[in-house]
Amino acid sequence: MTDWNDLLPTLRATVGARQVLTHEDPAADLSAYEQDWRRRHRGRALAVVRPGSTAEVAAVVRACAAAGVAIVPQGGNTGLVVGSVPDASGTQVLLSLQRMNRVRALDAANLTLTVDAGCILQVAQQAAAAAGLLLPLSLASEGSCTIGGNLASNAGGTQVLRYGNARDLCLGLELVTPQGEIWDGLIGLRKDNTGYDLRDLYIGSEGTLGIITGATLKLQPQPAAKLTAWAALPSIEAAVELLGMAQRQLGAGLTGFEAMSRFALSLVDKHYPQLRVPLWQDHPWCVLLENSDSESEAHARERFEALLEAALAQGCVSDAIIAESLGQAHNLWQIRESISLAQSEEGLNIKHDISLPVSAIAAFCTETDALLAAEIPGVRLVNFGHLGDGNLHYNVQAPEGGDPAAFLRGQESRINHLVFDSVRRFGGSISAEHGIGSLKAETLPQYKHPVALALMRRIKAALDPQNLMNPGRVLANPTPKQETP
Ligand code: FAD
Ligand code: ZN
Repeated sequence: MTDWNDLLPTLRATVGARQVLTHEDPAADLSAYEQDWRRRHRGRALAVVRPGSTAEVAAVVRACAAAGVAIVPQGGNTGLVVGSVPDASGTQVLLSLQRMNRVRALDAANLTLTVDAGCILQVAQQAAAAAGLLLPLSLASEGSCTIGGNLASNAGGTQVLRYGNARDLCLGLELVTPQGEIWDGLIGLRKDNTGYDLRDLYIGSEGTLGIITGATLKLQPQPAAKLTAWAALPSIEAAVELLGMAQRQLGAGLTGFEAMSRFALSLVDKHYPQLRVPLWQDHPWCVLLENSDSESEAHARERFEALLEAALAQGCVSDAIIAESLGQAHNLWQIRESISLAQSEEGLNIKHDISLPVSAIAAFCTETDALLAAEIPGVRLVNFGHLGDGNLHYNVQAPEGGDPAAFLRGQESRINHLVFDSVRRFGGSISAEHGIGSLKAETLPQYKHPVALALMRRIKAALDPQNLMNPGRVLANPTPKQETP
């Protein structure tokens, strides 16, 4: 067994001294690796290690396993559940995939793209576009998040209703196990029934079962035209009704359906007035729709107009615009993607990334809004999200004029339970797309089925018996109890 003190020299010999950053080196700046994106948690790493190849990742993992040192994998560090930064102990190695950022191969006939895990999502999208193809994963963080992080957290985004989440877009993985073995599972097959699906086990495992080092992703043909519309609606019930109409009339053409409450849009209007949010003042909800058409722009527009006219006649839409240019469409999407930032500008807030059956969304909102208003007079709800796949970002902002930090300290746990209990009553999930990380690891056992939780603990114990892969994430307590399911 390697001595603890031998670890750093071994790591330096493995990846090169310049790629091992420690606090002992006054020239090294570890701060960006140690703080989460929302700046609510700062940890302290034993070292930040930046391997340049899969073989180097495997050697780093073997050295850490021999020394009994835990590893926290990190891609773009844009995760929202505090999963990619070390804890405060100063004993964990932060393994950054940043240097492994190559596009490895594109197979146009097979519609697949193979990349390193540290490849930035936008770079992968551009590689597909350069071949006239589409990688249909789209997140507001796409300029800095990585494919490895997307898969480790099974990211969602704005096109899930048509193309699925990161899991649905992945055909093969290359990964390093907690023991430092390399599994080359970079297959581009759409059918492969040869036993347990290890790929799907690793997708969404948030770095707790091993390190993803490469992936083969599914591509799509580029649509001939993409049009964006913005509709104002009288209620959340109307938004659900419009979704049904859009699914029926546009079919597979419907590639985006984002709902935004008036208060969420008022924050964008307040903090980014240059974006000129349309139609928000007089309507409780707005919806952003995207129509991707395989024929032509004229065909797309015709179908969009028919949908919106029918919705206006039916009363579920009060007013609507269809973007006239790519610039206008881009601006509408920027409004949607600025809600999180506007919310941060407004001050500290409590985020809930929940999903519900679409049929339950309206009743959930009516009931939960009322419960929160009764508990916290003046509470402000920043409700928006990917309504097309039942995913709401149901966020809670402190009452106007109050002290947001005191609000968070005093109310966060109570509010979380109120919202999550309501989610459970309506058959939903407490984490739709951001994952569990450390932020929700303590909460998960209260909402996950006990048998499912026991199975998760057994898988973790079987694959990572030393509990060295991102410990404390997803499962706060990974030790399996003597349960009899
Ligand atoms: P990181 O933050 O670095 O890591 C995330 C988790 O994955 C951590 O647990 C980490 O340990 C693990 N991990 C990272 N790389 C690897 C690897 N190679 N092997 C094993 N484990 C690894 N998410 C959505 O799903 N939908 C959205 O619409 C969305 N919008 C966002 C908008 C903004 C502005 C921001 C800041 C975030 C958003 N997110 C969204 C959350 C986040 O961007 C995604 O979860 C993203 O997929 C994380 O990728 P990353 O490379 O930054 O991963
Ligand atoms: Zn989202």
